[in-house]
Formats: sequence, structure tokens, C-alpha cells
Amino acid sequence: MGKLDWKNLPFSYIKTDFNIRCFYKDGKWGKLEVSSSEYIDIHIAATGLHYGQEAFEGLKAYMGKDGKIRLFRWEENAKRMISSAEGIKMAAFPVEMFREALFKVIQLNKKYVPPYGSGATLYIRPLLYGSGAEVGVKPASEYTFLVFVTPVGPYFKGGIKPVNMLICRDVDRAAPLGTGIYKVGGNYAASMRAIIAARDGGYANTIFLDAKEKKYIDECGPANFFGIKDNTYITPKSESILNSITNMSLLEIAKSMGMKTERRQVPVEELSSFIETGACGTAAVISPIAKIFDPEKNKVYEYCKNGEPGTETMKLNNKLVSIQNGDEPDPYGWVSIVE
Ligand SMILES: *Cc1c(COP(=O)(O)O)cnc(C)c1O
Repeated sequence: MGKLDWKNLPFSYIKTDFNIRCFYKDGKWGKLEVSSSEYIDIHIAATGLHYGQEAFEGLKAYMGKDGKIRLFRWEENAKRMISSAEGIKMAAFPVEMFREALFKVIQLNKKYVPPYGSGATLYIRPLLYGSGAEVGVKPASEYTFLVFVTPVGPYFKGGIKPVNMLICRDVDRAAPLGTGIYKVGGNYAASMRAIIAARDGGYANTIFLDAKEKKYIDECGPANFFGIKDNTYITPKSESILNSITNMSLLEIAKSMGMKTERRQVPVEELSSFIETGACGTAAVISPIAKIFDPEKNKVYEYCKNGEPGTETMKLNNKLVSIQNGDEPDPYGWVSIVE
């Protein structure tokens, strides 16, 4: 490994020393295997390639001031991956093996965990896909689980900066009774056109509306949406969005800070009454939103008028980040030390 410049790490893939694999065959999972290869051998008729039998997770390991490595709510990722597996008829990867794989891959790649205070973290990517061969449309009888890690820089270099979002009405990411509630690659493929169109227009990302009525906010690209007004943290309830663990945690933290919380449908027009809005997910924690443009109504919703993130947003963000890093006590039992 060359010397990594922790303070200037990009948010992209960097090779580490080891990854973990596990194979499902004859109705059961085998033993965890350690590999130093970045490549996998895959059958040309694997269902993961042809029919999108693929789900993934994303979480981070944080180096504390005390030199201990922390994981944040990994059980939620394990459970969500089981839900995703069941949602697209794959063999589920057991929670206890998920834990073992995670801890092992972190320990084996300890030297890639960025130091405390650098703003960088170790991103962990578990992946599950149908690796058995089928030609007809049916679930594979063999599956592969793998997990790799890669050190990533802070999402926002030089501090959190509010971003602009574009409301998307001509592409749907997921249908109400579809796979939007699962973390599967297919949803990402479906969202790609809209996300690229938004980026090409100079926006950070797209805001998807509910596919059925186009009346309510669904998600911000690959992140959940929230708005704040009247001392209340409001986030969409929908049958087609992924339940973000960051969002679940922010709801708890908002309550602990004396805010009210609501999870309900959020009509597009309500955007004009929020004081602060943001997108949340593991990658950035919170991306505060400066402006949202609705091309159909030719309307701009503005927040952060001085270009700075709102005060409530920053309080929520800082509290969550301090718990993740181990700077503040964790009254929720969210943090696990990797030993
Ligand atoms: C992963 C993901 C999120 C964020 O979830 P976290 O658990 O907070 O990382 C939000 N929306 C979608 C569509 C996602 O895939």
C-alpha cells in the first residue's frame, strides 16, 4: 500500500488487502472465505447478471479518538439485507454470519481505517447475488455473499455545503408495489437516467415523487428526504422508498432534542412551508438542501438563503456524527466496537 493521503481521499474505490466471500449451495451457506483478489469468477448464466437477483448494503467503520473502531447499527444492515433477499427471492444471509464477515473484513484491513479527525471513514459494502445458472426466469439455487471495504473521504470536502435538487416527473425509480423498499441494484438502474439528467443540469441529485399520483415526495436519489418546520422533523411515508438507517436514527435524535417527529405523506406543495430540508443516508449523513427546482411548475423552493446549512439540520447532523465517532456517549446502543 502506498501512503494514503487521508485528508484528500476521494469518495471512490481504493483497493484494500482482503475481502470475504461465502457461497450458498445445496440449500446451505458454506464457511466464510478470505480472498485477496478483487475479482470474482461468475457463471455466464448467473441470475444476478441476467435477472437482477442482486442486493447490497452500505455502512461505515469509524476510528475513535480512543483508537477503537466503531460500527454503527450493523444489525439493521444485516436485517435489511435479509428483507432485500426475501423481496427478490434470494437465499438470506444470516445475521450472525453477517456480523462475523463484517468484523473479520475490518480486522483484516485495519490499516485502511482512516485516522480519527481526518473526516474519512472505512466504507463497507456487503453484496449478495444469485450465482447459480438459470435461463428461465426463476430464483437461482446458488448464491454468493461478499463484503469488501474501501477507505473513503468525507462526502463534503471542506465542510458541509447545501446542494440543489431537481424534482423529477418523467422517470420513476420504483412503483408502490415494486421493489423500492428493498436495497437492490435494479432500483439504481431504474434511477440512473434521472440522476444523470439532474447532474447534467447542474443539480446534486433528483427528487423522485410517488409513481402513482406524482403528488408526494418519495426520495432524493439514493437518500431519504426530510423537512423541518414548527420544531418538527417530517419525513415521507411511502411504499416505494428504502427505510434509511440514518433517517431512523435522525428521527430518534430529533425526539431527544425536543423536536416533534412525523412520518407521513409529504405533498410537493408543502416544500414551500419548510424552513430547512435535507437528504440523509450513510454516505453523507445529511446533505442540506439549498434549492429545489420543480420544472413542471417552474417553481424554486429556497432554503439556506445565506448559503449555510440550517441550524436544526446541523444540530441533528453533529449529534449523529459524534455518536458514530464515539465523541459522545451512545445512549441508544447503536455503536459496536470492533475488537
Ligand atoms: C441505502 C439507501 C438509502 C440510505 O440508507 P442508509 O441506511 O441511511 O444508508 C436511502 N435510499 C436508498 C434508495 C438507498 O438505497
